[in-house]
Amino acid sequence: MPAFICVTCGTQFKPSDKDPARCPICDEPRQFVPPSGQVWTTHEALARRHINAFQQHERGLIGIGTVPAFAIGQRALLLKTDEGNVLWDCISLLDDATTAIVKALGGLIGIAISHPHYYSSMVEWAHAFDAPIHLHAGDRQWIMRPDPSIKLWDGDTLPLAGGVTLIRCGGHFAGGTVLHWEQGGGGRGTLLSGDIVQVIPDRKFVTFMRSYPNMIPLSAPAVERIGTMLEPYPFDVIHGAWFDRTIPRGGKEIVKRSIERYVAAVRGDGSADLQ
Ligand SMILES: [Zn+2]
Ligand SMILES: [Zn+2]
Repeated sequence: MPAFICVTCGTQFKPSDKDPARCPICDEPRQFVPPSGQVWTTHEALARRHINAFQQHERGLIGIGTVPAFAIGQRALLLKTDEGNVLWDCISLLDDATTAIVKALGGLIGIAISHPHYYSSMVEWAHAFDAPIHLHAGDRQWIMRPDPSIKLWDGDTLPLAGGVTLIRCGGHFAGGTVLHWEQGGGGRGTLLSGDIVQVIPDRKFVTFMRSYPNMIPLSAPAVERIGTMLEPYPFDVIHGAWFDRTIPRGGKEIVKRSIERYVAAVRGDGSADLQ
């Protein structure tokens, strides 16, 4: 039985004879169903038209993304630690070349995913590398392919390896998580931020949204809470969800001033919008 994949969000569902008809992840306001309707594919069909590309972002951190782009178009990140490799976020395509390359790099000790839009084909990856998937329990309702490899965690932080910590920030999703890598950025600290802290095109600011495709903002308290959660962690580099969304330095200060700008906009009295 094929495990169908939603073409719009890239989420793989549990194996079934027929396609699942609707995608609950696209059917709610943080995603969308295109006007042409719900479309499905399979892992095999995807592999016929796409391959994965690799880019080293910094020492010990390799991006893995599908070309041509598929669904939301995010790339995963393979993070090397002294204890083994961690995969941050995930993509829908795991082809034979990617499996061979990741195995040659030492395989995976775990997979951690920022939020449900990037759950993608996580179970394929978990089975291929015999690795657990760490998901925040706050988003359990969005797991479309349940599997024993999925380990739910609760609370605000989860240490994954020495210097590697998952931080639950919430915001975009209740269980919205970022990864802090203490040794990243040559010891200045790196944040892997997914869609939870969104790197925007000018790289001088980040932003935060409940829904990106539908442009629905977060409340001021939700954005301030993200700042509070990140406060104890030093970082200078931020790697967002796409190959080109990277802030090479000044990340901590950029997050601080972005939160101030955002909160001022959503708490404003409207007078700034008339100027
Ligand atoms: Zn979908
Ligand atoms: Zn998202």
